[in-house]
Amino acid sequence: MKKRIVVIGSSNTDMIIKIDRIPRPGETVIGGQFSTAPGGKGANQAVAAARAGGDVAFIGRVGNDIFGNEALKGFVADNIDIEYVIRDTTAPSGVASIFVDRNGQNSIAVAGGANANLSPADIEAAEKTIACADILVMQLETPIDTVSAAAMMAHADGVKVILNPAPAQLLTDDLLKTISILTPNKTEAELLTGIGIENEDDARKAAQALLIRGVATVMVTLGEKGVIIATADGVRKVDAFEVDPVDTTAAGDVFNGALAVAIAEGSQLDKAVLFANAAAAMSVTKLGAQPSAPRRDEIDEFMKNH
Ligand code: ADP
Repeated sequence: MKKRIVVIGSSNTDMIIKIDRIPRPGETVIGGQFSTAPGGKGANQAVAAARAGGDVAFIGRVGNDIFGNEALKGFVADNIDIEYVIRDTTAPSGVASIFVDRNGQNSIAVAGGANANLSPADIEAAEKTIACADILVMQLETPIDTVSAAAMMAHADGVKVILNPAPAQLLTDDLLKTISILTPNKTEAELLTGIGIENEDDARKAAQALLIRGVATVMVTLGEKGVIIATADGVRKVDAFEVDPVDTTAAGDVFNGALAVAIAEGSQLDKAVLFANAAAAMSVTKLGAQPSAPRRDEIDEFMKNH
């Protein structure tokens, strides 16, 4: 039977204009190509976990608008339970407005909208669902008080919590003590610890510093260089898979979604990271955030061949 994974977090619609060059203030540049894509770290991780083989419920807020409708349709298409997705009547759905120029450089403005209204009371209303989960996954695109309330609740109920501390922000020791697995990338680990990460040794030091602050397991993701795992038993590295990257958007999201599935299924940490690395490596070989998240059969096949 599939393991139950609850993801609490953000859902956005990415509005992308590919344009020769990014307009300066006051300037209009014509000739762009427009597309939309579902995004938001929470939604990306939920979709990645569902495709990797989890029975996923998403908890978040979307607006009562066309973007909210599309987001919900997307969740349903990936068999994600949306019972606790709230239609916010006071704020629009979250939107990221993205310009990408001819060199692939981007400029992004995010309007969090309904995501900013996800409250501790919303989490309390979903307590039964959270308490029955095999694992809870969160990020930091929704209010920190809500993330903290959910982490405390899950911890008290004996549910493991994976926190992907993205976008980077400082966290209290009280929150860190409730986290089973913290998955910062290099930038986030630097901000959380104040340790500059130039090499693997620095990443190990940062991981250990976070352990000392009370996290049970730390996984610092280092892109194509792999993942540093730190637990009370020691620190080690799991290599990334070698692939030709096309678009690294949401690599971390796919990593976290797949990691949650493997941990919920009872995999040992190193095996779980190997599985998550495989899913994330596959995702960087394809364009887009959610479109690039691989299915379980594809991940299994990739691991057989690598
Ligand atoms: P984020 O996307 O959050 O910045 P990382 O860049 O560390 O996080 O990527 C997360 C994971 O995705 C890595 O640990 C690795 O498994 C995988 N990954 C990212 N970039 C590559 C790459 N170029 N080649 C192979 N795997 C990659």
